[in-house]
Amino acid sequence: MATATLRIDLSALCNNWRSLNALAQGKAGAVVKADAYGLGLAPVAKALARAGARSFFVAVAEEGVALRRILGKGPQISVFSGHMAGDTGLIRDARLTPMLNSIDQMLRHVEALPGHPFGVQLDTGMNRLGMEEAEWTALREVALDQRPTLIMSHLACADAPDHAMNARQLQVFRQMTDGLKVPRSLAATGGTLLGPDYHFDMVRPGIGLYGGLPYVDARPVVSLDIPVIQIRDVAVGETVGYANAWVARGPSRVATISAGYADGIIRAMGPRAHLHTGSSAVPVIGRISMDMIGVDVTGLAQEPEQLELIGPHQSVDTVAGFADTIGYEILTSLGARHKRIYA
Ligand SMILES: *Cc1c(COP(=O)(O)O)cnc(C)c1O
Repeated sequence: MATATLRIDLSALCNNWRSLNALAQGKAGAVVKADAYGLGLAPVAKALARAGARSFFVAVAEEGVALRRILGKGPQISVFSGHMAGDTGLIRDARLTPMLNSIDQMLRHVEALPGHPFGVQLDTGMNRLGMEEAEWTALREVALDQRPTLIMSHLACADAPDHAMNARQLQVFRQMTDGLKVPRSLAATGGTLLGPDYHFDMVRPGIGLYGGLPYVDARPVVSLDIPVIQIRDVAVGETVGYANAWVARGPSRVATISAGYADGIIRAMGPRAHLHTGSSAVPVIGRISMDMIGVDVTGLAQEPEQLELIGPHQSVDTVAGFADTIGYEILTSLGARHKRIYA
């Protein structure tokens, strides 16, 4: 076995959903955009549906079509990008619920698919998607007449609980929606953890389901073990890898492992990255190549057959830190070449 093994613990995933659902004042949906954050849409969505999730969120209509095939008729599938030009057939046939972002989208939707369910996305300060206050004021009566399934907005700084932006967005969301008889949703994972004021009728966790920060109590879902292809002795002064980036300061044992930046192991993490064998940490040395990485295993009592990049000794977020990025990017970068095992 020369490819790395990515293990995805579906029972930990379901546990994370249940915990967030129990924490929520209303219900918890499940965000499964980007192939369920890189972990595989079909196994992830089926497991979550079995655990009780009834409301799923995707980024674009095409993902919604794939999800409808996987889940069948029952669950609600909402699309964050709304009703874009060219999406009408997909939305109708797969019975997707677009989260409409603008007056243009609202007009497109009610003209093309009168009576078809939709939600409304409001901008409360992030300036990424959604109707602004003036737009919403102009459209509100018309929109409410058509009974939206959900009114939602998204927080820009929810992973920083003390950030003043959170309270500001909450206040704007309340101003725009208080008193309306439509279910509301403001919180993703971070917002759910800010407390019940942020929950409304539906929370929309993504990363928390997959075991990533800011959900510190999440059960880890992913592990990644990379097989060792070869171990060699390297003498003082010899170099390892492209550009001679690492020079042996003493007699060394160097393992070459079978994964690289083509597998989502971001090249920039090289200088800081470690892997584990049991509780021993071993550093990456030299440049990360497309399909291979050099690791200094000098001094290990036993020659490892594989090394753990993500697992019990090192979380997704620790690995993200090696590359100055976030767990989301590590998960969604995981490549197609890993052997995937769903437990
Ligand atoms: C991605 C996304 C989510 C989920 O966010 P997490 O931080 O992964 O929980 C929720 N809502 C919207 C609008 C999103 O784009």
